[in-house]
Amino acid sequence: MRTLVSLFALVYTLLALSLASAWAAQEETAIAFAARVVGDDKRARLIVDFDKSVKYDAYLLADPRRIIIDLSQTAFSLTGEAKKLPTGLVRDLRYGTIGPGQSRIVLELARDVVIENHSLRNVAAENRHRLLLDLVTASAEKFASAVRKSAPKPTQSETSANPQKTQDKKTFTVVLDPGHGGIDGGAEGAGKTAEKTVTLNFAKHLQASLQNIDQLKVLMTREDDRFVSLSDRVDFAKKNHADLFISIHADSLRQRNIRGATVYTLSEEGTDDQSRALAQKQNRADLVAGLSLPKTQPKVTDILIDLTRRETQAFSVGIARLIVRQMKDRVRLLQNPHRSADFYVLKAPEFPSVLLELGYLSNVEDEKLMKSEEWQTKAANIIGDSIKMFFKPRLGNN
Ligand SMILES: [Zn+2]
Repeated sequence: MRTLVSLFALVYTLLALSLASAWAAQEETAIAFAARVVGDDKRARLIVDFDKSVKYDAYLLADPRRIIIDLSQTAFSLTGEAKKLPTGLVRDLRYGTIGPGQSRIVLELARDVVIENHSLRNVAAENRHRLLLDLVTASAEKFASAVRKSAPKPTQSETSANPQKTQDKKTFTVVLDPGHGGIDGGAEGAGKTAEKTVTLNFAKHLQASLQNIDQLKVLMTREDDRFVSLSDRVDFAKKNHADLFISIHADSLRQRNIRGATVYTLSEEGTDDQSRALAQKQNRADLVAGLSLPKTQPKVTDILIDLTRRETQAFSVGIARLIVRQMKDRVRLLQNPHRSADFYVLKAPEFPSVLLELGYLSNVEDEKLMKSEEWQTKAANIIGDSIKMFFKPRLGNN
């Protein structure tokens, strides 16, 4: 692991540059189409390639140690995920939009560092603008003094808003979606427990676990025992400008010995037969209420939507992995607990979405656990913690 060569390398797929012409209309939006970190545990270099010049500002933050790079409006078409390499200087790399016309890259640091230099160059021969940022380990004193000197400049929204407004913190909206309801009871447990009751109880516990975070607003697609169609669930999240959507289920299988929780993200192909069958079953939930099936969206031809989708997908995978990591050893998980399939409720390109299967009601043990207040509280707190961790880097230095 201690080799000098790319201890930490993120290699992302390159979006065909021929698409650049499609962006002519989107003049202010730059595309970051490649990003990687190379180096070892003493030095590291971040390299990000853009299709056009961007404005940027890099600064250091302490507690936890981070480097923030604020960018003018940027769409990220980076796929793949940061590798966890604990011996490297950079533990993680995140990116995304933080406000109108503003984007951000966050590097999580394993040690005290200083930024040795940074630059943005037009590499005309390669048709790209390249941001380079070099880090080197430093003493705690040097790090602390660098943090003091590199205080962030006010962002656009802060300078344009009125003075009172600048005190406001950005609020993130989490939409919880308790599966089924009303006429649609969902799965039925070995001991007759209805899925719709388990999912609603769990959503309420989860909401309670996030109550004291004033920067998080938690909404639910239903708060009582009523039927909500699949498209209404997604539309509710869109209308409320969700920053995260979590659908909650507890289904059943013919194989009664199978148990444990699973976190699903969207994929057209699906990871396995079981996941594909589950998505198919859930996508037909509206039929129970006598509705027709929700229309599937037309194939994406708009490049902007496609890029948003990729960025959103990276966040969905990020929160799914976070949840699995948090649940591991504390809540019983299915084998390969992060799976994917073509779930209708996970298709919105606007916000990251995951679908949580708390366990299987067809399994007697799982059913008993999911019915118990104790388990509900414990599992909800774990998911709640994961949600807080997910939003933490985007809460900036507030
Ligand atoms: Zn369900």
